[in-house]
Amino acid sequence: MARNIIDGKKVAELLRQQVRDDVREWVGRGNRPPMLQAILIGNDPASGTYVGAKTKACKEVGIESETVTFPDTMSVRELKEAIRTYNNDDSIDGILLQLPLPGHLHPSQVIETIDHRKDVDGFHPMNVGRLAVGQPTFRSCTPAGILELFRYYSVMTKGRHAVVVGASNIVGSPLAIMLSRENDSGKATTTLCHKYTRDLTRHIIQADILIVAVGSPGLITGQMVKEGVVVIDVGINRVSDSSRDKGYRLVGDCDFESVAEKASLITPVPGGVGPMTVAMLMKNTLLAAKKSIYPSDNM
Ligand code: NAP
Repeated sequence: MARNIIDGKKVAELLRQQVRDDVREWVGRGNRPPMLQAILIGNDPASGTYVGAKTKACKEVGIESETVTFPDTMSVRELKEAIRTYNNDDSIDGILLQLPLPGHLHPSQVIETIDHRKDVDGFHPMNVGRLAVGQPTFRSCTPAGILELFRYYSVMTKGRHAVVVGASNIVGSPLAIMLSRENDSGKATTTLCHKYTRDLTRHIIQADILIVAVGSPGLITGQMVKEGVVVIDVGINRVSDSSRDKGYRLVGDCDFESVAEKASLITPVPGGVGPMTVAMLMKNTLLAAKKSIYPSDNM
């Protein structure tokens, strides 16, 4: 691997090892293994792959998991009922609702139904609110995984200019909160760009640290970035490629070749942020089982 390529697979493996040791210790003390309930709606192949990767990781670290698949014709009411069943099941510690949902199921409506104490994705407004005011919470997995990468690669964030492109509830917005507020791998001066940002390049060129989470292949090119920038490419896009058996390949939001030429560090796609997201989900599921964020006496 080239000197400036961030190896997300390796760092994620180290994190999973840590979770595996902690799960072993937890079970060794007479507790049942943590349990993750995954909910998959419809038959979107990418979503199926992501849930498969998450349940595989569960097995590897000693977390039990079950996946339920519902048809994409399911109503909001039916989905909420199913979630309430899992909320009330004491044998389930974490609930994972794989996004995106079919158009008629609005994520914000459904996510609020998940018991915030089982919200291992960190998407519930209660957990996002606690993140915003610096209280213990389930930190959303992708942003938390990015901060772990900064820690591992000793990327200094304090006082530096971080530019986040993409302001979704699951990546860009919580990441901007973490980067600007948290003591460890945070305290950066943070700019959050979105679809309505005027002259994106004017902001990006100033970034010491650039994180792109849009879902638009080739959005960022080498000409737009500063020499020595640290680049985290969150985007996962399928572009057709007839030379591959599958007929497509995965790329990020950055034009990798030209951006990597100027970056001091850069994540590849795949093998950068994705494995970290999965590893952080394992960590959150263990925290849920241990009731580390919401102790029982606060329930
Ligand atoms: P999303 O919900 O569609 O959000 C995309 C964000 O980008 C929105 O804030 C949108 O602005 C903004 N945007 C759209 N066009 C833009 C432009 N031209 N310039 C600047 N901002 C623009 O997507 P997401 O769920 O955050 O995911 C983003 C990408 O990351 C996707 O490719 C997804 O597959 C990938 N992803 C990867 C992981 C991982 O583990 N590696 C995890 C999650 C997501 P508006 O809000 O104004 O529309």
